[in-house]
Amino acid sequence: MSAPRLAEGVQPVLRERGQREVFCGLTGIVWLHRKMPDAFFLVVGSRTCAHLLQSAAGVMIFAEPRFATAIIEERDLAGLADMNAELDRVVGRLLERRPDIRTLFLVGSCPSEVIKLDLSRAASRLQGERPGVRILSYSGSGIETTFTQGEDACLAAMVPELPVLAADSPPRLMVAGTLPDVVEDQFRRLFAEMGIEQVDFFPPRGTATLPAVGPSTRLLLAQPFIGTAARALESRGAKLLTAQFPFGAEGTTAWLHAAARAFGVDEMTFRRVIAPGRERAKRALARHAEKLAGKRIFFMPDSQLEVPLARFLSVELGMVPVEVGTPYLDRTIVADDLAALPEGTTVSEGQDVDLQLDRVRAARPDLTVCGLGLANPLEAEGLATKWAIELVFSPIHGFDQAGDLAELFARPLRRRDLLRV
Ligand code: SF4
Repeated sequence: MSAPRLAEGVQPVLRERGQREVFCGLTGIVWLHRKMPDAFFLVVGSRTCAHLLQSAAGVMIFAEPRFATAIIEERDLAGLADMNAELDRVVGRLLERRPDIRTLFLVGSCPSEVIKLDLSRAASRLQGERPGVRILSYSGSGIETTFTQGEDACLAAMVPELPVLAADSPPRLMVAGTLPDVVEDQFRRLFAEMGIEQVDFFPPRGTATLPAVGPSTRLLLAQPFIGTAARALESRGAKLLTAQFPFGAEGTTAWLHAAARAFGVDEMTFRRVIAPGRERAKRALARHAEKLAGKRIFFMPDSQLEVPLARFLSVELGMVPVEVGTPYLDRTIVADDLAALPEGTTVSEGQDVDLQLDRVRAARPDLTVCGLGLANPLEAEGLATKWAIELVFSPIHGFDQAGDLAELFARPLRRRDLLRV
């Protein structure tokens, strides 16, 4: 096993490669199927994959499910069955039963990758037979990926399907990365008040009509973990606007400001539009600052939200990031958040979980943000933890969610105080 080394760069980054403790990309289906109700996610995987999805997504509350797993059996793994014929049969039955499906995603898994089942070929073959439904594929496997990459891969698979936005059309704003509808509506209102009316959200709420993309697209990312999709959009001509991510009062201001500048909104209008929301966010944060200021926080690499969240917690709430671990560090996408981290913060990329746990134990931070598998053992050692996955499932973007976001970090500290009494 190689020793960790400091990489070259503006800010030294500790790069590690070893045992990791993260969920796989199938997890993204949990929020993607809610966002795109006319899409269906067919995982081609094992019983483990089906179990993960079922437990992560909870009880199905829909009349008809929007995801399922086509189980690869042992004889398939042994190459005894023709998986493609079996897949065609499953897809045929599904689409006959469910004429409401507009887009079908064939989602690859570890088992389908191990047996080298080519789902992109299967998708094109099936597409040729069923022109009424868009059939796409992407990988949600846990081999060398973390759970938020499932969304990145899904969006990247959709990019070639987006219509062309003519080069001479007026600029349009595209906000990429899944946001809860309520947050999307809040941002759309703020953009409209600034005079930015031409706004698309990607992924859209329905896949029947996809947003167009081209050189007139100004691309603002709502999630830092969609680098592959962002690059695919850039290759279609979109211009990336970089900014801090919209967490807290300052992050949201910076993010909205990037759009305002790109669309020529004057400073006075911008300040006037954001003032009420910014004030609400600052008031909500002040209520948590007392509890959080000065507290030391350690991020294990998990959601890829780590750098923007560490910026939010340190700059806006006075927390002290001891180590900010992230599975992959995209220096372009998180540049503004990275630059705002306090001097001396250790940023680490990748994971060697044993070495990292040694550092957690040595540092004994007040709060450790980590995956579910690590939370219980650390709690048993007397360390307060926060589940990283909760940060992806909760509405945390924008002015009106700033207080809730701070609360997610304050709650485990309060709980620990109560346990100590
Ligand atoms: S895709 Fe891989 S990591 Fe994810 S549930 Fe299936 S087998 Fe497990």
